[in-house]
Amino acid sequence: MKEGELIELLSGIVGAENVLTDEIELASYSFDASNIRGLPNVVVRPSNNEEIIEIMKIASETGTPVTPRGSGTSIVGGSVPIKGGVVVDLLRMNKIIEVDEDNLLATVEAGVTVSELNRVLKDNLFYPIDPEIKGISTIGGILAEDSACPLSTDYGTARDNVLEIEVVLPNGKIAHLGTKAPSKQRHLIDFIIGSEGTLGIITKATVKLSPKPEARYGFFIKMSDSSDAISIVQEAEKKGIRISAFQAIYRDALKEIGEEVSADYIDFVGLIELRGDPLWLSSWVPKLREIISELDPVEIEEIEEEGIEGYWSKVSVVHDVMKTKGMTGLSISFTIHKDKMRDLLQRIDQASMRLNLPSITTFHPALGWIIATFLFGPEEKKESERAEKAISFVGEEVSRLGGSIGFGTGIGVSMADQYFKSSPDAVRLLVMLKRALDPKNIMNPGKLIPSREI
Ligand SMILES: Cc1cc2nc3c(=O)[nH]c(=O)nc-3n(C[C@H](O)[C@H](O)[C@H](O)COP(=O)(O)OP(=O)(O)OC[C@H]3O[C@@H](n4cnc5c(N)ncnc54)[C@H](O)[C@@H]3O)c2cc1C
Repeated sequence: MKEGELIELLSGIVGAENVLTDEIELASYSFDASNIRGLPNVVVRPSNNEEIIEIMKIASETGTPVTPRGSGTSIVGGSVPIKGGVVVDLLRMNKIIEVDEDNLLATVEAGVTVSELNRVLKDNLFYPIDPEIKGISTIGGILAEDSACPLSTDYGTARDNVLEIEVVLPNGKIAHLGTKAPSKQRHLIDFIIGSEGTLGIITKATVKLSPKPEARYGFFIKMSDSSDAISIVQEAEKKGIRISAFQAIYRDALKEIGEEVSADYIDFVGLIELRGDPLWLSSWVPKLREIISELDPVEIEEIEEEGIEGYWSKVSVVHDVMKTKGMTGLSISFTIHKDKMRDLLQRIDQASMRLNLPSITTFHPALGWIIATFLFGPEEKKESERAEKAISFVGEEVSRLGGSIGFGTGIGVSMADQYFKSSPDAVRLLVMLKRALDPKNIMNPGKLIPSREI
């Protein structure tokens, strides 16, 4: 089908004002928060699931690639239309359909952002999965990525906080999966969650809400050995202390956040948050203080409730650093057994030194989760090739040490090769399932599964 005909058909579905074809408008959909770029042929902005069904039918008939897009904060190129075609911008699907405070549930359209949802909730409730901690990500994007965040230690990832989804499949058929009670369809919901828009477009979801904790308490610590982070978690677990979040910035980024690294040797700066009933906290806080003190911290600062939010921005710096330095980056996110975290942090150092690229590493000791970003100049081809080598080296080390690539931030384009290398059986199974559901490979092609494997 000619592009003009496609645009006409799409305009008939969503209205000409919601079909973007202007060069500058298209360019604004050619990137996300990664270094991946790809220009769409057309962008559509549907406002309901019926429009999405019609869009998908046309795409399926014509074999046109479809890239779903929420807020475009993916750091792995997930929302970039690398094969051109149609970008389906879901931000007009922003209705909060129902908030059921008694049962701690909210039913929302896929384009609702975390901050929009949290804004309408009563003061004592919140949706806990906020991957970039600014509330920009959409519920659809979060479910598609199975996003994680610092609070995932306590609340799990996106899949642990959803009961029902509605998804439009590549053939234009709609599937309602799950119920408001735990259901037998759980495994099918889990099949769509985390599939990164490669199996369909999520249009609606019923997500779980959580009561805000009655009390919060924080420890901001500077330690001289990253293995201390693991010891803190292990000792806390043994003593029955529930750590709700523990995010650390590794030494490779300390200079970037203005830490004085020369005076005392600091290996990481971290924020530990405890949440819950004030009575529990009154027992946990002194025990955790003792655990940390025994490890001889370089510095320990205790933070009362109101101060904690400010400290979160201190340990969530990657994007800000890239912006101030005018650099871009290639990230690898993975989980690894806690005992191997220190080894992997050292491998990241090695890659950074050998390939002469700055890196910024954040890690979550309680989850065994590490995100490393190698920075380079946006126009520096040689540096970007070195960043790919660094990612490849770290990816191989993750596989060798028994870890898993893609936790939280997803695989997208930039991690697809690494994912295949580290989990070939999983990718081969994915290919079979993908071929059955999407025989023309129209849904988000080139993501999650390397193009050559399809
Ligand atoms: C500074 C920063 C920090 C971040 N930190 C984290 C972190 O700690 N943990 C983490 O998990 N992520 C993190 N991210 C990545 C990102 O925020 C998450 O992946 C987020 O869930 C994406 O939401 P979005 O609405 O922006 O989705 P997009 O980026 O628009 O899309 C993400 C993926 O989902 C697909 N998609 C979007 N909507 C739908 C839909 N309705 N149906 C089907 N597929 C869809 C897209 O095609 C794409 O593959 C971070 C990003 C930034 C910029």
